[in-house]
Amino acid sequence: SADGAMYHAKASGRNNYQFFKESMNLTAARHFELETSLRGALAAHEFELYFQPIMDIGTRRLHAMEVLLRWRRGGKDGKGGELVMPDQFIPIIEENGMIVPIGEWVIRQACKQSMLWHSQGMMPVPLAVNLSARQFMHRGLVESIRAILDDTGIDPALIEFEITETALMQHGEQTLEILGHINAMGIRLSIDDFGTGYSSLAYLKRFPVKKIKIDRAFIKDLEQSAEDRAIVAAIIALSHSLQLSVVAEGVETEGQYALLQRHGCQFAQGYLFSQPVPHATAQLLLPRC
Ligand code: C2E
Ligand code: MG
Ligand code: MG
Ligand code: MG
Repeated sequence: SADGAMYHAKASGRNNYQFFKESMNLTAARHFELETSLRGALAAHEFELYFQPIMDIGTRRLHAMEVLLRWRRGGKDGKGGELVMPDQFIPIIEENGMIVPIGEWVIRQACKQSMLWHSQGMMPVPLAVNLSARQFMHRGLVESIRAILDDTGIDPALIEFEITETALMQHGEQTLEILGHINAMGIRLSIDDFGTGYSSLAYLKRFPVKKIKIDRAFIKDLEQSAEDRAIVAAIIALSHSLQLSVVAEGVETEGQYALLQRHGCQFAQGYLFSQPVPHATAQLLLPRC
């Protein structure tokens, strides 16, 4: 009956509303709880760097490593606790500004690790560190990078910064100026997650960028999707004509690898080679001097 239907709609509407409210509360509560424990995390040595190899497709040798942040919540110095992934905490620390000191720690720690490996007889490969939009808005970024280079004595050619297109486009002229300073220090810049933002290679010409990283969304179905193959081939061809080198992200299969090689892509990163690993494991991947 009509009454019955109305009752049903109301009832399910109420249930939906309750479900919605509860999941919202859960998210808000979880957010608050994480934010609270993040406050002391840096001082408590709960952050840790993981490293993921970036391979040279032609030689299948190690080319560089990306530095990926992990939060060992409740643990210390790489032991114990629960490992929290960036998706869970980067948005929170970007929102509350804690990304600035934590991001600075990441850069410093990466430089220290590189110097340590070198002192232990390992051949240093470039380390690629992620920078978010919020870090770019912070006035002290260039100065703190300069201080880290001075303090650690690292060769700036061994550091790269990865920035997303969206972060680049957000602040126009100011970003261009900051990138100019970073570039002048001898640190290379690459565009992360390419293809998910504005994707204007022509626009990128304005920035002192040397490398682009094709987002794994385009790599995932490379073997099945002729459309994705066409997009990836076009990105590679245009990048090369602009003298940009190209890294494919999220390479998981030999089939994807072979297709990328055929299209002239130089570098690849993904689970096919290795997941991100702690420093002790990463060290085993480095050639000795
Ligand atoms: P990203 O910079 O695009 O990093 C690549 C992400 O893809 C990493 O996730 C990596 O583990 C994952 N990945 C690599 N290969 C594969 C693959 O073959 N398959 C799949 N499914 N995934 C793969 P992760 O470590 O969870 O980091 C997520 C994002 O968090 C990063 O994306 C980056 O945007 C951000 N992030 C991580 N560390 C830092 C940091 O120190 N500072 C800043 N600002 N952002 C960071
Ligand atoms: Mg990255
Ligand atoms: Mg990426
Ligand atoms: Mg990403």
